[in-house]
Amino acid sequence: MKTDRNISDTTLDIRFEYSGEQKSVTLSQLEEGARTFLEIYGNAQFCGKEFADIIQQGNGQSKWENLLAATGFEGYPKDFFKTVLSAIAGGEGQTLALNGVTLPHILLVAFLEQVIPGHGYVSVRSTEQLISLTNHNIPETDRDDIQKVIEKYPVRLSRHTIRQMMVSRDVAYQYLPFVEELDNIGHTNTWIGQFHDGLLEQMYQNRVIFLLNMSCPVYCRFCFRKHKDSRNEKNPTPKAVMKAVDHVRSSPSIKEIVITGGDPFLNRKNMEAAIDGLKEVDHVQTLRLATRSIAYYPDLFLEKEAEYLKYIKQKSLELNRIGKRIEVATHFIHPDEVSPESLDIISDLVKHGIAVYIQTPFLSDCNDTGPELVRLFSLLRGAGAELHYIYIPCSPIHGNSIYWKPLSDGIDIALHLRAHLSDRVIPRICTATPIGKMDWFSSGWAVEKVADQDYFVWIRTPYTPEYFKAFAPLANSLTNIRVNAEGTIDIQYMAKIGNDDYLVGNRPEKTAPVNPEALPEEVARLRTALTETDQTAGSVVDTGVDGISRLHETRVNIHPRAGEAEFAYIAKDPRITDVRVTGEALDHLYEIQRIAQRLASIPHVNALRVCSMKLATDPRAFTRARINFLGEVNALSVVTPLRLEIETWFVLVSDLTPDHTVITRRLNSKGITIYANVPLLGGVNDNDTRIHDLAYTLRSTGIEFHHLYVAGLPVQISWNAAHPIDSYDVVDIATKVRREGSGREIPRYIIATPLGEVDYGLTSTMIRKGDAVDVELRCYDETYYTSLAPEFQFPEGTAISETGHPVVPMPGLIKTNDFVVS
Ligand code: SF4
Repeated sequence: MKTDRNISDTTLDIRFEYSGEQKSVTLSQLEEGARTFLEIYGNAQFCGKEFADIIQQGNGQSKWENLLAATGFEGYPKDFFKTVLSAIAGGEGQTLALNGVTLPHILLVAFLEQVIPGHGYVSVRSTEQLISLTNHNIPETDRDDIQKVIEKYPVRLSRHTIRQMMVSRDVAYQYLPFVEELDNIGHTNTWIGQFHDGLLEQMYQNRVIFLLNMSCPVYCRFCFRKHKDSRNEKNPTPKAVMKAVDHVRSSPSIKEIVITGGDPFLNRKNMEAAIDGLKEVDHVQTLRLATRSIAYYPDLFLEKEAEYLKYIKQKSLELNRIGKRIEVATHFIHPDEVSPESLDIISDLVKHGIAVYIQTPFLSDCNDTGPELVRLFSLLRGAGAELHYIYIPCSPIHGNSIYWKPLSDGIDIALHLRAHLSDRVIPRICTATPIGKMDWFSSGWAVEKVADQDYFVWIRTPYTPEYFKAFAPLANSLTNIRVNAEGTIDIQYMAKIGNDDYLVGNRPEKTAPVNPEALPEEVARLRTALTETDQTAGSVVDTGVDGISRLHETRVNIHPRAGEAEFAYIAKDPRITDVRVTGEALDHLYEIQRIAQRLASIPHVNALRVCSMKLATDPRAFTRARINFLGEVNALSVVTPLRLEIETWFVLVSDLTPDHTVITRRLNSKGITIYANVPLLGGVNDNDTRIHDLAYTLRSTGIEFHHLYVAGLPVQISWNAAHPIDSYDVVDIATKVRREGSGREIPRYIIATPLGEVDYGLTSTMIRKGDAVDVELRCYDETYYTSLAPEFQFPEGTAISETGHPVVPMPGLIKTNDFVVS
C-alpha cells in the first residue's frame, strides 16, 4: 500500500535480511542520485533500449517521473524506493521488475551507492564476515564448508564489487566463494612459465612477465593463481625488480614486458622501479601493464583526483619520447561489470595514446552463450578498448571446475560473434597451454584424445623444441609433450573436447608448388589496385538505398556525400554499430565531420571508420592540422561515444617507413586507432616470413594488424587466379606469427565472400572440389540475411549445406590435401 505523496524529506530504513545490517538514507539523497544517474546514463547504451524507451529522452527529472509513472509509483517516490531496496535487501535484487518494467542492474547499483557508499576493499576471513559484508544467503549446512574455502582460497572484495554483486548474479558468480571449490578435480598448481627466476617468468622468446605484487584487491574465484600459497608469497622489493631489469638488459630478444601480479598497481614502489628501469633498456619496446582493477576496483585509478591515472599518462609520454610505449591490459567477463567509472578510465587512457586491450576468460554459465559477449564487447569498444583474447577454457586447476566448458563450446562462440559483433572487436579465440598460447584452427587445433585419459586432449601448438632452447631448456624435459611429424609440439591439455568432430588429427606434408616471385612492377600494380578499388564494398543484401551497402549485421558502407536516406536506414536498425565511409578520408574531411555530427544523434552507432590509402602511401599528408581536425571528430566518451578509426592497407613490410611511426603516434595521441588490412597475394607475400615481418613492423609502428585476407577480395580474385594461395601456407603463417611475434601482432585470418566475411577454419569450412575450393559460411544462414532484407534470395551459384549454411566457390584458393584446417 502506498504510504505518502512525499514532498518534504524523510528517511528510509533498510534492513538487510541475511547480514542483519541496518542502513538509513534520506529520500532526497536517493532521488537526487536517481535523477543524476538517469540524466547521464539513462539511455539505451547503459540501460537497454526497452528501458530507455520507457523513460524517454529528457532531463533527469523528467526521466525519473516517467520511471515512477511506468512502474506504478507516480507521486510516490518513497514507496518506489522502499519496494526496490527491500527487494535488494531481501536478496531479490537480481531481476527486479515493477509493473512489468525490469530495472537495469546498473541503475540499482546507483541506488546502492546512496545506501552503502564507500571505497576500498576488505579481506574476508570468515563466513560470518562474508554474510555481514555482502548480505549473501549462505545456507547453514554450507557454512562450515565455505569457511574451509575461505581458508584455502582467500576471499577479498571491493565495496564497488559488493554493490554490483547484490544486484547481479553474474558478478557474484565470479567473486563469491562456493562449496565446489573444495573439489579436487584439476591441476594442483599453477603453471609458472618455462623460466622462472624471482619475480620474472618467461614463456616466450620475445617477452617476459614481471610479477610485481602477489595480491589483488578482489580475488576472482576462477583465478589460476588462486591457491593460498600463491596469495601469501612475499612481494618482491624494488631491488629485486632491478635485478629482473638487468636480466632483460642482457637479453636482447626480449621486446615486451608484461607487468602483472596479482595487481601490480597495488605496489607503487615496484611499479615505479619497473617502469623507470625498463625505460632505460634500449631493446625494450612495450610495457604491458595488466590490471583487473579497472573493472572491479576503479577507485584505485580515480581516487585522489585520478592521481594514478595521471602517473601512467605521464610515464607513457616519457616512453613515447624515446620510441617506446605503454599499454594497459585488463579483464572483463560480463556486461554487468561495466560501470561508468571503468569506461571513464578506459577512454581517458586511450585519449592519451595508451592502448587498452581486453582479455576475457570463457566461464561456464556466465558468458558462454554469445549475446552477453556481444553486449560486453560493444560497450567496451565505444570507450576505445581493443578486444584481444577469449581464453577457452578457464584454467583447469583445483577449485575451478564449475567454470569449465568443453573446448568445442568455446570454439563455437566464434560463430555467434562473427555473425553479430563488429569485426573490429572480435577477439582471438585461444587456449593458454602450459607451453604457450595457440589460436584455434590457425596456429593450433585438437589432434586427438590422450589414450585412456578421458579428460585430456592432445593439442597441436605452434611451438618447436628449438624455440625453447634459447631460454628454457626445461620444456624439452616435459613428459606431457611430443613432437609431431611437421616438427611442432603437441601437448596434453586438460579439458573435454565436447564435439569429437573437432579432433582433427595431424597435418600431412605440403605438396603444392610455391608461387613464382612477383616482379616489382606487378607488386606496384597490385598496390595501385588497392588504392583505386575499395576491396570490401560489396553489399551482402539489397538495402533498397543506393548510397548504402550492408557489409554485415553491424556494419554499413556509406559514401562521403551520404544523405538523409542513408541516415534513415542506419537510424532504424539498432544492430548497426559501425559506419564505414568510403573514399580517401583526406579528400573528404568536411564530409566526415558532417557525417559524425549526423551520427551523433544515432546512439547505437559507436564507431565511424574512414579509409585512407594516403596513410599507407604518403603518411606525411596527415599534417598536424588534419590530425587535429580528425581528433576533434573522434568522440571517445563514456556516454554515446562515436569512436573514429582509420583503415588502411599494406602489402609488404617495405611499405612501412619511419614516417608511419611518427604519424601513427600523433593520431594515437588523439585517441584515434589505425588498423591495417593485408591481402594475401600469391608470389608477393604468401609466406610466413613476409607476413611475420609485416606483423612485427606494424606493431612497432603502432598500427593494429586487423585482417589478413586469405582470399576473396577483388584484388585477390584477379591476381590469385594465376597465383593461388595454398591453404597450407595460411597455417604456416599463423604458426610463425603466433610463435615468434607478440600476441598483439596476430591478425584475424579472413576469407571474404559475397555473403560476408568468415574466419579461416574457425567460422568456415573449406571443401575441396578437384582443383577448386568451396567455402561453407558456418556462421550465417538464410534467416540471418532475411533479417537484414526480408526479400533476400541467395545469389546464383550459392549452395546450401546440410546444416543450412551457404556454400560459395572461393577462386584463388587451393587446398592440396584433405586435412580440415590446411
Ligand atoms: S585479477 Fe587476475 S590475478 Fe587477480 S584474482 Fe583475478 S584473475 Fe587472479
